[in-house]
Amino acid sequence: MQLLDGKLASQAIKDDLKSKVKELKEQGSKIPHLAALLVGNNGSSETYIASKVRGCEEIGFKSTLIRLAETISEEDLLETIHKLNYDNDIDGILVQLPLPKHISEEKIINLIEPAKDVDGFHPINIGKMVQGSETFISATPYGILLLLQHYKIETKGMHAVVIGRSNIVGRPISILLSRNDEPGNCTVTLCHSHTKNLKEICLQADIIIAALGKPGFLKADMVKNDAVIIDVGITRVNDKSKKNGYSIKGDVDFENVSTKCSYITPVPGGVGPMTIAALLKNTFKANRLKQSLVNGQ
Ligand code: NAD
Repeated sequence: MQLLDGKLASQAIKDDLKSKVKELKEQGSKIPHLAALLVGNNGSSETYIASKVRGCEEIGFKSTLIRLAETISEEDLLETIHKLNYDNDIDGILVQLPLPKHISEEKIINLIEPAKDVDGFHPINIGKMVQGSETFISATPYGILLLLQHYKIETKGMHAVVIGRSNIVGRPISILLSRNDEPGNCTVTLCHSHTKNLKEICLQADIIIAALGKPGFLKADMVKNDAVIIDVGITRVNDKSKKNGYSIKGDVDFENVSTKCSYITPVPGGVGPMTIAALLKNTFKANRLKQSLVNGQ
């Protein structure tokens, strides 16, 4: 079994971006600038957004963290995004989800200018992704593709089973793995909470993407020998042995599955760091596209 080390693979991407930013600085070109919006103070969201901002700092991007009260009205949040859409210095806009219940996530996502939608959640960008056109692929599925690429995992002709059909992970990765591209060309089965015979389906999989948010769900008896296992799950579980009182668990029973698969992502240190690297790549791309429109750079 080989570990698909997301820390290592994401570092290679960040090093590459860092040298590109250095070049931009030397040329006097505009540096990528990400605006990250955090509404309220949900513990997990705080952690995720902090690592995104840290990622920007590490490679020399500008970043602006906008903290907004849990009680902000939908109208005021829409107004904040509207201003960022028109702010020429901002290349990418990210709104950390989930949002408080009184705010429609759909309305917020739909207002983000597609050219600044570095999370790839806007319907225009999702539509382009489905068509296979150039776009911003949402960060977690993009991160998974980058990880498969980094480790040169053959996907062509493989049966990929995706567990979970959310708009941000399961559904997009199922589409991306089925496209005629590299990585891609898989035969994909998309499973969800109403899937019957999940174990039998998983046993036929060459690649399993577990994205359901249930710690340790994928057991060794659901996995065929030498399968490739991508664990997207991140769940905080109480752990008195830890200083902060919790540990992070993935959707895969790592201890037992790792003894029979060919490749597996650890949690933490697998898909998580790749998600950040993918977001940074999208932000860089947004910056370059904008600059090429502004002055042909
Ligand atoms: P979600 O809660 O939106 O969707 C879960 C999906 O799992 C649903 O489609 C549901 O049908 C399916 N499901 C639930 N129980 C099932 C079962 N018993 N059998 C089969 N399918 C089942 O989840 P999400 O937002 O896609 O997140 C999934 C997990 O991935 C969570 O742990 C989340 O924290 C994590 N996540 C990680 C990253 C990262 O960067 N690593 C990014 C996003 C989400």
